[in-house]
Amino acid sequence: KAKSEGRSTYHFFETGMDAELQQRRSIEAGLRLAMQRDELRLMFQPLLGLKENRVTCVEALLRWDHDDRTISPVEFVPVAEETGLIVPIGEWVLHEACRTAASWPGEVRIAVNLSPVQFRQKNLVAQVKSALLEAGLEPTRLELEITESLLLTDNESTIAALHELRGMGVRISMDDFGTGYSSLSYLRSFPFDKIKIDRSFMRDLTTRTDSQAIIKAVIGLGQSLGMSTTAEGIETEEQLVMVREQGVSEVQGFLFSPPLKPKALANLLHSEAAKGQASLKAS
Ligand code: C2E
Ligand code: MG
Ligand code: MG
Ligand code: MG
Repeated sequence: KAKSEGRSTYHFFETGMDAELQQRRSIEAGLRLAMQRDELRLMFQPLLGLKENRVTCVEALLRWDHDDRTISPVEFVPVAEETGLIVPIGEWVLHEACRTAASWPGEVRIAVNLSPVQFRQKNLVAQVKSALLEAGLEPTRLELEITESLLLTDNESTIAALHELRGMGVRISMDDFGTGYSSLSYLRSFPFDKIKIDRSFMRDLTTRTDSQAIIKAVIGLGQSLGMSTTAEGIETEEQLVMVREQGVSEVQGFLFSPPLKPKALANLLHSEAAKGQASLKAS
């Protein structure tokens, strides 16, 4: 009996691995054609500045429409990174995001996620310049979001590229702060403009005092280092009240707005510009 059980477990495991590999291969094959077929698009999620009480920034988020479904970046970005496809895809994202932002009213900034793989290219800075120039967008209206894993592949050229971008007026944000292994040492190796506190800290904010203490400490840290802070994943009024009390600069989350299609986001910005302020539900 033990033997047959062992065997079936083995087969189950093997089939599972196979299915996963199969899926990666099909994602890879599809992704190679996705750009030619116009299957990639961007959604835009507005971030609310609490002091300004208006949309201060909008994050561009990649989507892939393929075979009658929309595939999440969580599924395909890792495959795109492994295959190097993230390089042309990321370049398209930069151009598309800057083009879209150039048509918005006011001083709203656009935030673009960059993969560490994009930093390994020699010409990243040139790509950013060309996206800004082509769109006619001021460098100060662009924010680049990078995760902690970027600096793991740390080298002088990465740091030099970040400094060059910052010297142009582009802002650099640390995304998903607190999920990596050495968040604190990264803050020391590079002067970020913004810290985005990962949404895992918001989930239990109202029930766990340790999450509250961590958020409070990160905001204080940001203040003393001259970095602004964004709370990611704000879904409830209670969470908003708490991070507001702690002095967070900006909030992002479904409470204020989910990611929107370009037209809906433009409408939001135009109506906000007309009214002069953002409307956050129930506040
Ligand atoms: P991220 O950069 O941390 O982006 C925020 C993610 O949180 C988005 O997921 C957004 O839809 C989601 N989110 C926002 N507010 C809430 C909320 O209140 N509750 C919950 N549960 N989620 C919320 P999305 O669009 O699925 O993107 C996932 C990740 O994929 C991004 O995380 C980013 O790391 C990556 N990604 C997205 N677009 C790009 C891109 O153009 N290039 C690269 N390299 N990565 C991208
Ligand atoms: Mg991001
Ligand atoms: Mg994030
Ligand atoms: Mg994230």
